[in-house]
Amino acid sequence: MTIFSKIVSGEIPCNKVLENEEFLAFHDINPKAPIHILIIPKKEYKNFQEVDPKVMVGLTKFTHQVAKLLGLDVSGYRLITNNGSDGGQEVMHLHFHLLGGAKLTWSHLSDSDSHKFL
Ligand code: 5GP
Repeated sequence: MTIFSKIVSGEIPCNKVLENEEFLAFHDINPKAPIHILIIPKKEYKNFQEVDPKVMVGLTKFTHQVAKLLGLDVSGYRLITNNGSDGGQEVMHLHFHLLGGAKLTWSHLSDSDSHKFL
């Protein structure tokens, strides 16, 4: 069972933002922006590569609701999913990071020289 499944079951507490039968949104414990929400399907999928694409329809609608609830639909936001080892994924339960509340920068994605990959 993943740590996020323990949050879904209530075994581990979270600061909840929105919930329905299939999805849960809660504040990240270690925020990287003024607003940093994690959005997950309650059912465990390892990551984006493994998710049933049909789930993404509901997850997209749910994410729109979360953004609206927090006013981010107007001010803007960034949506990220880390996939696997090189993607920097730490929790093996599909989740999207919804980041906002400030003008976000776009830098230092890798310790390697990015020009080598362009
Ligand atoms: P990843 O690196 O897998 O994309 O992101 C995992 C995220 O989960 C991290 O941003 C981390 O701060 C967050 N996280 C890990 N454990 C917990 C927890 O117990 N509660 C909450 N709210 N967030 C967690």
